[in-house]
Amino acid sequence: MSSSLFSPADEFEIFCRFCEKITIAHLDRCIAGNGKIVDRNSVFEYYCTRCMKTFCYSGTDILEQRKNSIEIFEQRSYTPTDHFFIGEVIHHKQFKECGTVVGKDNGSPSKIVVKFPKSGLRRLVQDM
Ligand SMILES: [Zn+2]
Repeated sequence: MSSSLFSPADEFEIFCRFCEKITIAHLDRCIAGNGKIVDRNSVFEYYCTRCMKTFCYSGTDILEQRKNSIEIFEQRSYTPTDHFFIGEVIHHKQFKECGTVVGKDNGSPSKIVVKFPKSGLRRLVQDM
């Protein structure tokens, strides 16, 4: 099999659309796709630790759990043609700062919601 096992991050910062605030989302359960194998195409249910409401993400939209916390995560520069993951830290050249991806807007075009320390919450196009 080509698809490998996937363990998503237990929790990450998220822009909760119910709270309309940045909160912490915690992994609730994995909903495996075909068969019983949890891989990148599985769906993961998270709940907001503030309002306890649940939401689902595909493994293709979230960061994998870091196996080694000392491991330095390489920051990518933001470009509209790339695909980004929730929990990922990206660098924005125009804003001249790094932000954390805290959500997704699955419209067309698809957008990521990024929290920047100075520029605030921004919606940026991805997968263009
Ligand atoms: Zn919430």
